[in-house]
Amino acid sequence: MSNGGSSAGSGDAVAGEPIRPASTLSRELGGDVPCARCAYNLRGLSILGKCPECALPVRATLLAKLDPRADELQPITNPRFTAWGVVAWSTSALVAAVITWVLRAADAFSARLPGDWVGRGQMLMMLCVVLSGLGAIALIRPHGGDQVRRGLIPALLGTILYLPLLWLLRGLMEMDTIGADPYSDEAAHGGRRLLYHALSVATIIVQLHLLRPNARLLAARSLLMRTGRVDRQTMRSVAAVLLVVLLGDGMRLAGWSIPGGTGVLVDQAGRGLVLVGSVLFTIGLFGIAVDCWRLAPVILDPPLSLAQALGPERPARTEPSR
Ligand SMILES: [Zn+2]
Repeated sequence: MSNGGSSAGSGDAVAGEPIRPASTLSRELGGDVPCARCAYNLRGLSILGKCPECALPVRATLLAKLDPRADELQPITNPRFTAWGVVAWSTSALVAAVITWVLRAADAFSARLPGDWVGRGQMLMMLCVVLSGLGAIALIRPHGGDQVRRGLIPALLGTILYLPLLWLLRGLMEMDTIGADPYSDEAAHGGRRLLYHALSVATIIVQLHLLRPNARLLAARSLLMRTGRVDRQTMRSVAAVLLVVLLGDGMRLAGWSIPGGTGVLVDQAGRGLVLVGSVLFTIGLFGIAVDCWRLAPVILDPPLSLAQALGPERPARTEPSR
């Protein structure tokens, strides 16, 4: 494996390490490189070799672990908190959306869910939003450096906005419970509900924009996402889709003030927009959650740079390095 030290420059050798010519394909790994499948330390093995434990080619591990820009990545302050934070942030939001769909569907098909089931579903939904907000804390300052400092205040504001969002969602829930009350004023109730709905949608749009810079910064740690093999515009398109929902809310409001059949038509069209926007929003949340699950291992186990994998570079004098 080792080509043996050429006598030239042997004075540079550190602790008996043989001098190896640089950039030879059959070069062995001089740094700690855990096998991508079984985590066996491949240090000292040839790049062309196989893992002695599980026979996975060393090249497969390098392909999975190497990132040419790994050296530029700022170390994450608290990898476990950050990794689980982004997973909780995105996944809880997705689950909250799915629970809302279940409650809405039960409403639409007037399937009589037992009263305590509706209450439990609503509680679970709120809990998910709380969890998502706690997860968002991980985006405030995941690591040092100027870029994160620029995203710090927006991310902080985006996280704090979970409080008014929770308040709005709680208001919506209360209205939905009162909705069954035959004595409530239908029109007034509808208007207030629409306002709360539009405000919560607007809050989420603002949050997506505020949390995006630091979320993208984290996503850039993944070679896969950085090179665009994974869509990096998800958060922006999710925000755009929510604008469709807002437009639908606006059309519904307009429809209520137009008398007769036209008004009903406009209201129905608005409802349609809200529905389509909500479906696309849920799909978008799914995309963000998938990205975060992909990102978590990269945060927990940062990629290796070529230099780290090969160990200290000690080019022989006769072969100048590039
Ligand atoms: Zn292995």
